[in-house]
Amino acid sequence: MNKKKDIRALTKEQLRNFFVAEGDKAFRGNQVYEWLWIKNAYSFEEMTNLSKETRQMLLDNFVINHIEVDKMQRSNDGTVKNAIKLHDGLIVESVLIPTDSRTTACVSSQVGCTLDCKFCATARLKKMRNLNPDEIYDQVAAINKESLLYYHHKLSNIVFMGMGEPLMNYNNVLKAIEKITSPEGLGMSPTRITVSTSGVPKMIKKLADDEVKFNLAVSLHSAIDEIRTKIMPFNATFPLQDLKEALQYWYTKTNRRITYEYVVWDGINDDKESINALVKFCKHVPCKVNLIEYNPIDDDEFQQASAKSINNYISNLEMNDIIVNVRRSRGKDIDAACGQLANKS
Ligand code: SAH
Repeated sequence: MNKKKDIRALTKEQLRNFFVAEGDKAFRGNQVYEWLWIKNAYSFEEMTNLSKETRQMLLDNFVINHIEVDKMQRSNDGTVKNAIKLHDGLIVESVLIPTDSRTTACVSSQVGCTLDCKFCATARLKKMRNLNPDEIYDQVAAINKESLLYYHHKLSNIVFMGMGEPLMNYNNVLKAIEKITSPEGLGMSPTRITVSTSGVPKMIKKLADDEVKFNLAVSLHSAIDEIRTKIMPFNATFPLQDLKEALQYWYTKTNRRITYEYVVWDGINDDKESINALVKFCKHVPCKVNLIEYNPIDDDEFQQASAKSINNYISNLEMNDIIVNVRRSRGKDIDAACGQLANKS
């Protein structure tokens, strides 16, 4: 282990104080802070507006812990998947998804996942640890650079739909978003950020209490407890009734519509009762439904439902004035699509 302190753990104020204690100007702290966060420098050498002596002094006192893009793959649809190496050697994945109108970063919040969804490749990995705020921020900054490089514009959206359950790493995810949205970070609008959760009621209420400004998506997949518990076993601990109450609380406080993510599987939730249950659940809180394509994960249990079943869902939802979108998978050929992130390499 390196004994030197990670300079990125310091606030701007602490950096300013450090320079004053070294007999330098507080302003030096601002310069370093800008290098670390706006310019995303990963070495002191890059900090060219500091003297050689100052850079050496920083090198003697600190390290810059940062992520490294270990491996990058580009799909034939333009999707880019990064295997990200963390300072302790663990790997997470993050994805850049370009469309005509936007480029979206899909980022991870944990190494592995706390939850146990049967259809998700990440759930099969051991849960190793939470990502710290910098590791989350760095994924976004790295993808922003790739967006500029390949698509010549900045990142427009961020979704927390990579590996992990963001609400089980609540504080670090919120700290990262604070920096992503800060003018002293990436300066992105919170309305372009979506946090996706499997549905942890207590934490959804906390988001509402904390008056967050980003969007919330819930991976629903079934509005019938018995079915949902089979495919998402933690539903036994956080049943739909609690989820419903938390979402109502969210809506009362934020006035913002929820997005439900929903995969339709053959023989699991493609029946009439499942459709009716979803329609009923959608009436609790203003919402929209994203029907997502199933991305197979080497498993016989789950099969994408037929086009007919999906059309049944669409027509029933539309008949009840519920907004529904069908989401095509991206980056399947490189295992970059929803639920496929599992460090295969
Ligand atoms: N833990 C969070 C975020 C990660 S999963 C959550 O559950 O929302 C991101 C999305 O991918 C979720 O909607 C999840 O249900 C979905 N997903 C997981 N495995 C999938 C698969 N094999 N095919 C399609 N979507 C999948």
